[in-house]
Amino acid sequence: MDSNCAQCHGIPAAQPLVEWLTDANGVCLANTIRIVCANCTYYDTQQPLLDRNGYWDRAFELSTLKKYINIVNNMAWDNYPLAMQRINEVLKHAN
Ligand SMILES: [Zn+2]
Repeated sequence: MDSNCAQCHGIPAAQPLVEWLTDANGVCLANTIRIVCANCTYYDTQQPLLDRNGYWDRAFELSTLKKYINIVNNMAWDNYPLAMQRINEVLKHAN
């Protein structure tokens, strides 16, 4: 994973987001964790996918990830090892 936007492949906006999807039960989907521009979220770009599956988008400023890492670690993930691997990759770009 690099620090470019996973959606438009551009250099991230000045305030890049980290985001992932949750299923209809609120379980976080590890393989959807990604870095995007503020206006490239799943919510902004893939609304039909969300609607079709009952997914929700969780997104917050990448710069706040370290601050919220304990909350992220304690979320319900569908694949915890993969989630932590991807979160650790994202953290490399959180400064
Ligand atoms: Zn983008």
